[in-house]
Amino acid sequence: MHKLSLKEARRKLWRGETTSELLTENVFQQIQAHEPVVQAYLSIYREQALAQAKAADERLKKGDTDGAPLLGLPLALKDNLNLAGTETTCASKILKGYISRYTATAVQKLLDAGAVITGKLNLDEFAMGSSTENSALQKTTNPWDKERVPGGSSGGAAAAVAADECFGSLGSDTGGSIRQPAAFCGIVGLKPTYGLVSRYGLVAFGSSLDQIGPLTKTVEDAALLLNVIAGYDEKDSTSVNRPPEDYTADLNSDIAGKRLAVIKELSGEGIDAGVRQAIEKMLDKLREQGAVIETVALPSFKYALAAYYLVATSEASANLARFDGVRFGHRNKSARGTLEMFKRSRAEGFGPEVKRRIMLGTYALSAGYYDAYYLKAQKVRTLIRQDYARAFAKYDAVLSPTSPSVAFKFGAKVNDPLSMYLSDIATIPVNLAGLPGISVPCGLENKLPVGLQIATPEFTERKLLQIAAAAERSSGFERMHL
Ligand code: GLN
Repeated sequence: MHKLSLKEARRKLWRGETTSELLTENVFQQIQAHEPVVQAYLSIYREQALAQAKAADERLKKGDTDGAPLLGLPLALKDNLNLAGTETTCASKILKGYISRYTATAVQKLLDAGAVITGKLNLDEFAMGSSTENSALQKTTNPWDKERVPGGSSGGAAAAVAADECFGSLGSDTGGSIRQPAAFCGIVGLKPTYGLVSRYGLVAFGSSLDQIGPLTKTVEDAALLLNVIAGYDEKDSTSVNRPPEDYTADLNSDIAGKRLAVIKELSGEGIDAGVRQAIEKMLDKLREQGAVIETVALPSFKYALAAYYLVATSEASANLARFDGVRFGHRNKSARGTLEMFKRSRAEGFGPEVKRRIMLGTYALSAGYYDAYYLKAQKVRTLIRQDYARAFAKYDAVLSPTSPSVAFKFGAKVNDPLSMYLSDIATIPVNLAGLPGISVPCGLENKLPVGLQIATPEFTERKLLQIAAAAERSSGFERMHL
């Protein structure tokens, strides 16, 4: 049963063909069998999950499923999401042993919807990276090929879903961290519009870019989870107050006449030939369904990576100032004096990539350089938004590969930050503009999955999911099962 999609598992459960306890037990058997290699989980909540499952079964027996669309379904969380009473590490030594005092709004919504939480998943330290190799705690492998990375930073969240070690997970996406690992692991990853899902309780990285979103086996499952986690939250000042929508509503509508544009800057040089071919085949299938496909130039995209690494590192340097050895996590005990304690706690607690980013961000925000770097990057961000706005005046959606390559081998990029940063060249502009974006598996290259990225105007997730579902239906892509 662990191989079922979330929707299929729900159907079986609600028809009384299985119980939540059995489903959950199945998932834990799968975890036990494959975690020694996959290593997606940083913590596993076996007892608590089985207790939640039993409680769900009691409710199901009484037919009490109102307001609980995820009743009895096992899901997992990226370990930068707070769940009261559990360890939240962000895969960093500085937070090892830190116990959350409160629960993230998106996580609370899963609980309120009846979900069973199986555990917390590995990530690049503080969500900084594209391969999960920056985790200070463990090495997650790609279920398609254990010599390769699962992508990042939500590498554990993607690998666990691909390995059928949960029916879906929540990740966070600052510059591609949901979509790129989803692409590498052959699953669906959705980054919602900035402001649609509350960030309250997500450990902040780049606050103007971060969004929580689902990683799932199917597009429909992503819509089901978005239905639960979307919505206004007074605890997040950037949360947007809009009427609720049913994101599953248009999934079966055909896409004849939809106008789609392939991004010129993301379809040539810099994109692996095999990835380009898989995307081309997918485009043909969308054409067969009546979509009109053209090419659009988004000239400001060439500045996106540079702008992102100024904005994201600047915000990170401010956000990570709170980890000072006083309020959270690790403290150096032998330091004499407060300043030395700050310095030593941070020096010991943070890994090299996190330190690099704090230094870059602090530099970009410093008095003499703010105008030249941070302010300039914010202006580039406006140009990118304008590029998208021009495209959306003519097209329903813009398309590109999710990442320039398929999953790469361990060690291939970890000593070359720039080449690692380039694996998010296609996903980053979407965050800079605050748009919704999704990665859908569209084919294989060298026996490894390729993701198609679709982006639409802000708050048009229904249309985004409609196009994604059409791509999924015609792709012929099959998930692997361990
Ligand atoms: N890989 C990008 C980075 O390292 C994106 C990370 C993310 O989306 N959290 O910043």
